[in-house]
Amino acid sequence: MRAEPDTFMSRPTAQSPVLPFADSYAEAREGFLAAARGAGARLSSYATGLRGRLGEELATDVAVLGDPAGPRALVLVSGTHGIEGFFGSAAQRAFLTQTRVPRGMRVVLIHALNPHGFSHERRADQENIDLNRNFLDHEAPYPDNPDYERLADAIVPASLEPRTLGAANEILKAYIARHGALAFQSAVSRGQYTHPEGLCFGGTGPAWSNRTLHAIFRDHLSGVEDVVFIDMHTGLGPRGEAELIIETVQDSPAFRRAQAIWGPQAKASHDGESVSPPLVGTIDEAVASAFGSARAAIACLEVGTVSPTETFLALRSDGWLHTRGDPDSPQGREIKARMRAAFAPRDDVWRAQVLAAASGIIGAGLAALTTPRGRAA
Ligand SMILES: [Zn+2]
Repeated sequence: MRAEPDTFMSRPTAQSPVLPFADSYAEAREGFLAAARGAGARLSSYATGLRGRLGEELATDVAVLGDPAGPRALVLVSGTHGIEGFFGSAAQRAFLTQTRVPRGMRVVLIHALNPHGFSHERRADQENIDLNRNFLDHEAPYPDNPDYERLADAIVPASLEPRTLGAANEILKAYIARHGALAFQSAVSRGQYTHPEGLCFGGTGPAWSNRTLHAIFRDHLSGVEDVVFIDMHTGLGPRGEAELIIETVQDSPAFRRAQAIWGPQAKASHDGESVSPPLVGTIDEAVASAFGSARAAIACLEVGTVSPTETFLALRSDGWLHTRGDPDSPQGREIKARMRAAFAPRDDVWRAQVLAAASGIIGAGLAALTTPRGRAA
């Protein structure tokens, strides 16, 4: 199949090939839909009813390839964390233009699960919810995160003026000196349910994208007996390197299956070996309950960008911007540039590296489904 027109592509440099990276949600969506049509996929859209940063329609699009009733399915998700969708969307477009789906296989590509965050270049959604902390039982008491509560005003300060910021940083430095950088990463990122304007807020009910994912499961994934589910993220780990985070312990069937498919790239977050601390309310909980964990290999594909300090500083400024600042001001644009650098670098070397990594990982997922059971431990 031919490549997409240049209008959807990042501008190639003399040394680099043209890569399928878009520069906005609207471009990514257009490119995904065109590539899906070109591959002969069946398309459905789930519209939010909201408009994006450029006035565009915001929707999650689903492309189904292969046998729509096939018992074995590969599912690829982009944009669970909005802005991280620049990478996932590019990987989906590369898949659509390069991959031949084996006979009897069902492939479901879910594009921009959090389209609002993608369009506004944020990690959170329209309600400031971190979707990947929202998949838990909202009727039960929420897990607590006392360290976040203690640090909340220092994590997202009331102002970015040097004096306020300096005082906030002193509080965080003292915490890190006492408890370590890992404890700080866990306090910030594992999820909190008490500060709706804070970071990694898990919501007070199922978010739009959570409900939409369940609708997609119903509409496109019923009857599936064996699934490889890859949710694509950016921002953790060494720059350009890929890891498959499995939200479990090493001594579990789910981890052993992931390891059989991806080898040492699979890491169990609950044993402290992953770039991510254990999290709550993640998407794998929704997948495991929809398909049964025994029949699902569920991985969060994470690719590294910048240091944890830089991603934290970008997220903190962005958290402030959307509660107290003006995204259209010069300061707002500066913060958005920081967010892009932290979660979607405009860097062709990085782009080529992460696309190649994704292609190998997705290929291994597809191969595991075509030789079911045989390779699993
Ligand atoms: Zn993410």
